[in-house]
Amino acid sequence: MQAEFDYDLLVIGAGSGGVRAARTAAARGARVAIAEDRYLGGTCVNVGCVPKKLYAYASHFRDSFDDAAGYGWHLPDTPTFDWPTLRDNKSGEIKRLNGIYQRLLENAGVTLYNARATLKDAHTVSMSSAKGESEVSAAKILLATGGWPWVPDFPGSDLAVTSNEVFDLDTFPQRFLVLGGGYIAVEFASIFNGLGSETHLIYRRELFLRGFDDEVRAFTRDEMKKKGVNLHFDTNIERIERGDDGLNVTLTNGDTLTVDTVLVATGRRANVSGLGIEALGIELDDSGKIPVNERFETSVPSILALGDLIDSPELTPAAIAEAMQIVEHHFGETTPEPLDYERVPTAVFCQPNIGTVGLTEEAARERFANIRVYRTDFKPMKHTLSGSSERMLMKLVVDDESDVVVGAHIVGEEAGELIQNVGIAVRAGLTKADFDRTLGVHPTGSEELVTMREPSRT
Ligand code: FAD
Repeated sequence: MQAEFDYDLLVIGAGSGGVRAARTAAARGARVAIAEDRYLGGTCVNVGCVPKKLYAYASHFRDSFDDAAGYGWHLPDTPTFDWPTLRDNKSGEIKRLNGIYQRLLENAGVTLYNARATLKDAHTVSMSSAKGESEVSAAKILLATGGWPWVPDFPGSDLAVTSNEVFDLDTFPQRFLVLGGGYIAVEFASIFNGLGSETHLIYRRELFLRGFDDEVRAFTRDEMKKKGVNLHFDTNIERIERGDDGLNVTLTNGDTLTVDTVLVATGRRANVSGLGIEALGIELDDSGKIPVNERFETSVPSILALGDLIDSPELTPAAIAEAMQIVEHHFGETTPEPLDYERVPTAVFCQPNIGTVGLTEEAARERFANIRVYRTDFKPMKHTLSGSSERMLMKLVVDDESDVVVGAHIVGEEAGELIQNVGIAVRAGLTKADFDRTLGVHPTGSEELVTMREPSRT
């Protein structure tokens, strides 16, 4: 690459996508630097997937303690939960992961700048840190600065926390309220409910998880209600005031709730503040994302972007896959196949979990002339003795003409684990006949995926 620049690639943001791009480009012989001003590993490691999943594990124990009695286990006392233990153990684990990320970068020969980076021109970035300012040049600059929580403006919104703060609350909220209807809101409602908070979820539309399969949404609503989450749909927060006994939250439907913590989880925006893209003429599109071409180049060809900054699924595996594509395009010898963003398996780690891949029933009805829907819901065997009323939903959506399974949806225990494997089958374009030819694993809940013979509806 060009020796006139300090580096061949300079990555801004050491999150999911940035770290992978830096490491893989360096492994291909590129001279690489990366700038990070907050935490190595980015959102996922520090305030996203990782702490969220650890807290989700913690929240499941309450059900497990209840379930155990029917199997003959008796716990000596009522189990108690200690928030500081969970919070501090989580922080220790994240510190360990931060160290791993640092070593991965060092071992790959990537130069790390602990600095805030701002674009100066198409090849130059200014680095600002406690140590001072410097300028660094690179043939290519990769923007990998991720997203940032967006908080709507209402009186008292400053009394709420976002997902950036909720993991580190000083005291455990006995009464917890989350505003939002996306997967992050739903997950936190389940987490705090499971940990023992009186939990409320407020969402302005009639049902949460817009974009997910409608039947999955309704089933999840019913299961979460059974577990004790108070769901308030078709309403919004009008204002929050600090009262003697906590935060008084007034809803637009006139109801008031007094809680200890309000989490606002109303979406995230591309984290471009202070990045300097405007001066270079890089504009955001209508969805607030940075437009890129198939080589992940912005309107300035030497400046690339990935992950939560661009219009693709806001998920760590998507950011990582994009990083690999970028390195292949710009530092490799072949042109990679474009990514398939349609059949992306994903999970919502609420209780019970949701696992989903491919088209919803509603989307499939629009796309294909005729579809077949195979669905079943049942009480998992575990709950015959546990006494729990939790049910499980399995659903396959099939294009009638080709017999291809175009969508699979699961709600139930470990659906997040199950959907990865179903995702391979759906990604491979397997037919319902292929599913039918596969013998079930008995006795499991997932054997239903290969034993649903009659369509529930067409
Ligand atoms: P990020 O990982 O956000 O990294 C961006 C980095 O850039 C940050 O470290 C930031 O400090 C740094 N940065 C920003 N500006 C500058 C600057 N000017 N100079 C230097 N550094 C800068 N995804 C999943 O796949 N599964 C999940 O279960 C999941 N759960 C989530 C739960 C929560 C609560 C949240 C918030 C997100 C979750 N996500 C999950 C989404 C996932 O975290 C993101 O999609 C992913 O981290 C995006 O990666 P990225 O590389 O685009 O950016």
